[in-house]
Amino acid sequence: MKLQELLARAEGLVRDIDLTPVRRWKDAVAGRKAIGYMPVFAPREIIHAAGMLPVGVFGGGDQMEIIRGDACFQSYICHIPRSTVEMALSGRLSGLDGMIFPSTCDVIRNLSGMWKILLPGVYARYLDVPQNFDRAVGGTWFEAELRAIARDLARLTGREIDEDALRASIKTFNANRRLTRDVNRLRRESPHLAPASEVYVVLRAGCMIPVEEHNEMLAAYIGEARASGRPVLDNCRIVIRGAFCEQPRWPCCARWNGPAATS
Ligand code: SF4
Repeated sequence: MKLQELLARAEGLVRDIDLTPVRRWKDAVAGRKAIGYMPVFAPREIIHAAGMLPVGVFGGGDQMEIIRGDACFQSYICHIPRSTVEMALSGRLSGLDGMIFPSTCDVIRNLSGMWKILLPGVYARYLDVPQNFDRAVGGTWFEAELRAIARDLARLTGREIDEDALRASIKTFNANRRLTRDVNRLRRESPHLAPASEVYVVLRAGCMIPVEEHNEMLAAYIGEARASGRPVLDNCRIVIRGAFCEQPRWPCCARWNGPAATS
């Protein structure tokens, strides 16, 4: 796939707040299910091993007005949780058969309870993470949490998660992590070949498609970006530090088709 084509596909995936690719994936085979998650700490491998599609949800960005979502949170709460509620109440997340809300912050934590009230009957689970890193304490406890999620998903699909399937899923997601590191290494070592605006959409696109497809996309991007022959630019480097999860507005992250990035 050529670079511009690949980037257009990635941006299309990222901007699709109706989750059309997820609906298409489900429609292709009867009985398929998809599980959404707020994109940190979620055990995507378990969802994948259950034969389901893990779908990262980042809220509606600047593409939707928040009306009903504002009724559920204080107005000063950040955009992601409020717009995620808006997406759910406007039916945009109806392609999801459940949601996992990891322990990102108090706001995301509370979404799991809200989901149960707003969408009764839809699977919603709060995923806590260990604070004690002693394997015998935090490790044992976290294993029990993950096993509970695996049991929940098995109930949704009607079949147990196979251990071999889980091993295969872990392998596939580890390949995804390696490729993600390769993309970031390319960006670090040759930023003129892999602009942040491109890397952003290419990495985030993985939240909407099967990991196998995303692995292919990442490998293709690395090859195409390396071969692009873009000139070295004298850009100053900026380091952003922290873990704030609000996403950039589109006008500033959709520069990949600008002249500097494509030459
Ligand atoms: S930006 Fe911070 S407070 Fe807001 S949802 Fe993300 S982690 Fe929570």
